[in-house]
Amino acid sequence: MKTMEGSCHCGRVRFRVTADLARVTDCNCSICTKKGFLHLIVPPEQFELISGADSLTTYRFNTGTARHTFCATCGIHPFYVPRSDPDKIDVNVRCLDGVDPEALAVHRFDGRNWEQAMSERVPWR
Ligand SMILES: [Zn+2]
Repeated sequence: MKTMEGSCHCGRVRFRVTADLARVTDCNCSICTKKGFLHLIVPPEQFELISGADSLTTYRFNTGTARHTFCATCGIHPFYVPRSDPDKIDVNVRCLDGVDPEALAVHRFDGRNWEQAMSERVPWR
């Protein structure tokens, strides 16, 4: 477990997270593909919003369970509340300071076939 900080592009939204980078997951669903989101799911006590609560806007679609929060100024999605674990926070590894996603062993999640993929063992649990 490592404590790291991250932000959106303009820097209004900043956060701190404590997590294990061995659990990073890439998802091929419709929105993750377009966002380029790299997932790191943590319990809320391992996440702290440092600044930018008033800069966050939320996008919802389909079941409406996931809350896709993003910075209203720069449009970047630094973290959100995922459909798979609505009691947790899903951090975008690409928004972490000093973390090279290319250096990580990234797990795959078949979000295009969400129900089927969730019925199997998922990489982040
Ligand atoms: Zn921003």
